[in-house]
Amino acid sequence: MMLNVLFAGAPARWDDYRRPLTDAISAAGLKARVATDIPPGEVDYIVYAPNGPVQDFTPYARLRAVLGLWAGVEKVVNNPTLRVPMTRMVDAGLRAGMVEYVTGHVLRYHLGMDAQIVNPDHAWTPAIPPLARDRQVAILGLGELGTACARTLARLEFRVSGWSRRPKTVPAVTSLHGDQGLRDILATAEILVLLLPLTAATENLLDARRLGQLPRGARIINPGRGALIDDDALLRALDSGHVAQATLDVFRQEPLPPGHPFWSHPQITVTPHVASETRPETAALVIAENIRRAEAGEELLYAVDRAEGY
Ligand code: NDP
Repeated sequence: MMLNVLFAGAPARWDDYRRPLTDAISAAGLKARVATDIPPGEVDYIVYAPNGPVQDFTPYARLRAVLGLWAGVEKVVNNPTLRVPMTRMVDAGLRAGMVEYVTGHVLRYHLGMDAQIVNPDHAWTPAIPPLARDRQVAILGLGELGTACARTLARLEFRVSGWSRRPKTVPAVTSLHGDQGLRDILATAEILVLLLPLTAATENLLDARRLGQLPRGARIINPGRGALIDDDALLRALDSGHVAQATLDVFRQEPLPPGHPFWSHPQITVTPHVASETRPETAALVIAENIRRAEAGEELLYAVDRAEGY
């Protein structure tokens, strides 16, 4: 049977995805038309991104599943017109990119690189950093991406702890959960990495009170979602010196508006949502495998739990 797979990612990405998707679906043993212009009533699967053309799933009467290209699903999870299973993207390329971003920015803060990179007065002030084994890194969100980052940082001998909803077992990583776990992980976090999804339970998680639970001089790296942090509370914590520096990749409004105080704050580094990107070649394999599973009546990989919001 010929399946109809609608590509409803960002239109500008169609050229990147057309060949990998077509090839991967064919390699999975399926016959499919993969296109951007299939009439809604004929569509079996939607390859979806929130910045694509589909916001209302109602006309897709025979739709079997929505296969997300993004890891974060907060923009679609509460869409009342979505009545079929949805999967999110877990992709080897996405994971590798995030590990590189987080490791790079952790090493920048750990080694105090800024003092040498920006040194207009040519000051000769040696400051020897501790070894990684004496540096505590905390990762909020020990899922696909957080765990991959935790493993790499632990291999570099950082003291790594992670916080998640349910307890986890990750070699050389201390796993914490629950309210007490959050207090404990924040209390020792010299470098804090946010890799939580944005849900009702995580929005503004890092408010003034919780920022206050960090040790003085903590550094924050947020490639998770902007709304995990209360913006004003972060600015106050930076201005008081309680938080020393922050690297922010994600924002409540993107692009970050011109004139937003984050742009000009000397202790904030803004990166333009580049921490990691779904890679068409590897992502297409995940999409194809999920179509194969759906057709075989098997459980989908990386299904979104709509009640939990991620
Ligand atoms: P996962 O769903 O695999 O992991 C999410 C983690 O957060 C899990 O460990 C989960 O706990 C934990 N979590 C969720 N809710 C809570 C809660 N209420 N309390 C405590 N822990 C919680 O997601 P990924 O690792 O794949 O992605 C994480 C996020 O990274 C995405 O949602 C997205 O926002 C962001 N992202 C950003 C990118 C960028 O370029 N900046 C690129 C890709 C993703 P448990 O394990 O118990 O379920």
